[in-house]
Amino acid sequence: MSFARTLRGDVDPSTLGVVNGHDHLIRTGAGEVYIDADHLLDDVDKAVEEATYFVDASKKWSVDGGTIIEMCPANCGRDVDLLAQVSERVPGLQIIIATGFHRQANYLETRSHWVTRYSVDQIADLLVADIEEGIDRYDYSGPLVERTQYRAGVIKVATSYGKITAFERKCMEAAAQASIRTGCPINTHTTYGTCGLEQAEQLIELGVAPEKVAIGHIQRNADPYYLAEICATGAYLEMDGTYRIKYQPDSNRIMCLRELGEKGYGKQILLGTDSGKRGYQKAYGSVTGVDFNALVDGPRMLAEGFDRAYVEDLLMYNGHRFAAFAEAR
Ligand SMILES: [Zn+2]
Repeated sequence: MSFARTLRGDVDPSTLGVVNGHDHLIRTGAGEVYIDADHLLDDVDKAVEEATYFVDASKKWSVDGGTIIEMCPANCGRDVDLLAQVSERVPGLQIIIATGFHRQANYLETRSHWVTRYSVDQIADLLVADIEEGIDRYDYSGPLVERTQYRAGVIKVATSYGKITAFERKCMEAAAQASIRTGCPINTHTTYGTCGLEQAEQLIELGVAPEKVAIGHIQRNADPYYLAEICATGAYLEMDGTYRIKYQPDSNRIMCLRELGEKGYGKQILLGTDSGKRGYQKAYGSVTGVDFNALVDGPRMLAEGFDRAYVEDLLMYNGHRFAAFAEAR
């Protein structure tokens, strides 16, 4: 039977409840925090509070709770022991942990980085070990590796603004190999919604099953024609950036969701919030947070005339299908 791989173990995907397709609870340091200290999410109490808001909002959709796909990848401040503490303290919360990579700029210096120095096969082996054996307690920040009991359930790949660097292409090749070998889904980062179509095409060309690919942060490119082109490859879209009014109003997301639903792509969309900074979380004082889709966006879609079945696909059922592992090849 198909399963989703969570922090606590493999589960029936239908038990995931409301699925948040891209979010952050813990980030203990590394490149993004160096670039902007607001990315530091190292307070377990705050993460418990934020996750509790999410579970409470999820329960409004007649389910026992929800699942957060935690998208901090390798060597980026990922701390599975702290995530496990959060998981333990929030009943009704499931967490799917990522392995894989961020965009090149977040590694600060890539000439000496192990991604540059290792072969694609060696990098793929490290991703497969995170997925099948257990994530390195030290986040592949080396030199020692100590496997925890917590296994990764999704692979991140990422690209830069309007280009895919050689470093990022190498990460994609390793991620594709790991996905094929394990059946693990791939969830991406696009920068400002660029290169989404290229990500989908290249991952599929590398042999990844289209339905195991989700192209992330793609709402930043609020162009329904472009988004439909990505859907036509068979990949999912992952739309987050909720209440990020400095970039665009939330009505853009609603407009894209409506048009994509009408075009028949409603079962290929995941919703996240990507509240990956303190300034984006209620636990740190923001008016909006990780619970946004279940608490605000879902009711808004109903109020704007969306079918309840479509809203439930967006909040829950699409995530159940995406998170399920494929047959390993
Ligand atoms: Zn993120």
